[in-house]
Amino acid sequence: MRFRCSLCQQHYPLHTREWRCSRCQSPFELDQSFAFKRSKIDKRVTTLWRYRAMLPELKEKNIVSLGEGWTPLVEAVIEGRRILCKLDYFSPTGSFKDRGTTVLVSFLKELGIETVVEDSSGNAAASLASYCARAGIKTKIFAPADASPAKLAQIKIFGAELCPIEGPREKSAKAAQAVAKEFYYASHVYNPIWLEGIKTYAYELWEQLDGKAPDAMVAPAGHGSLVRGAYKGFAELQSAGLIKRIPRLYAVQAEIVAPLYKAWTKKLDQLQDYWRHNLVDLLPGQTFSTIAEGIAVSRPPHWAKILHFIRDTGGSVVTVSDKEILRARNAMAHQGLFIEPSSAAAIAGLSKLKDQIKPRDLVVVLLTGSGLKSSTILS
Ligand SMILES: *Cc1c(COP(=O)(O)O)cnc(C)c1O
Ligand SMILES: [Zn+2]
Repeated sequence: MRFRCSLCQQHYPLHTREWRCSRCQSPFELDQSFAFKRSKIDKRVTTLWRYRAMLPELKEKNIVSLGEGWTPLVEAVIEGRRILCKLDYFSPTGSFKDRGTTVLVSFLKELGIETVVEDSSGNAAASLASYCARAGIKTKIFAPADASPAKLAQIKIFGAELCPIEGPREKSAKAAQAVAKEFYYASHVYNPIWLEGIKTYAYELWEQLDGKAPDAMVAPAGHGSLVRGAYKGFAELQSAGLIKRIPRLYAVQAEIVAPLYKAWTKKLDQLQDYWRHNLVDLLPGQTFSTIAEGIAVSRPPHWAKILHFIRDTGGSVVTVSDKEILRARNAMAHQGLFIEPSSAAAIAGLSKLKDQIKPRDLVVVLLTGSGLKSSTILS
């Protein structure tokens, strides 16, 4: 197995220290896909490692697991519609990021990596700091100085070196990338191994729904890993003949930081030469703040792929305001589910999708992050 440039197809060995294509700057993907087999699920394992046979091959002794995945599926009612919520905030560090991190850190252990660097709005870094602590890997984190204090504290408590960066999320990314020659850049955005862990939520849903896929999935989107992971996982199930179609994928963005939404409404992914552009050429920059800090990403590198997946499944992209996000957060809390605003964005998005989601559709929303990290937002 190797990394491959998602655009020019140049190959790179798995142990490369390049974190994107050095020829054309596009993100990597894996040059191999995995065949899902029902008989290969290890049903004795109640973490996402029950799907180990469908993940990159790793030695048993290098697997760094804290009990992630295999999360509950519970009902909620939003504006009269019954939905199923997958409680991924039941994760070792309180967010779905642990799914990707367990696979990535195991891979890093296998490579013998000793020090890593990463940037994040908070949850990805807290997750990485936790798993690296467990693996004995030193961690250096660049995160926005105004990220939730609970997330910043969590990063430090795990023993990572935290470098707060003033300004928008992108500045933290630039700071991490600037030292990526010195330390391994353990990026949850660029490293394709991380996405392999995320795809397992599609497998779990299929098992929990007795071998069915939902009709629609609604997800908050910043860098779009939920959309990319769902597409990957469900596509593997489809190739194995286990589901008829991939669910319609709906992405929800914060009104004020909505590059995917703008690119979607302008159909930028359908431009003849879209791959020659990155969003910087196509959309004016926007770096305002929102309470949905986990999805405040103004330049998602996988934007075109995300839009292709959404288009292919018949979904769409919508936006929500901070006020709508808070209302959704509270509506969930009143049903006993305490999620962070970035997570509540998806719930808020449901009311924008009334024309697109039919009353009889089976709708799943993955609840990405725990409300405990943002408990100071009260109104
Ligand atoms: C990271 C994160 C998201 C968004 O994930 P992307 O891959 O950036 O789209 C949503 N909610 C929470 C709680 C997160 O931590
Ligand atoms: Zn390339």
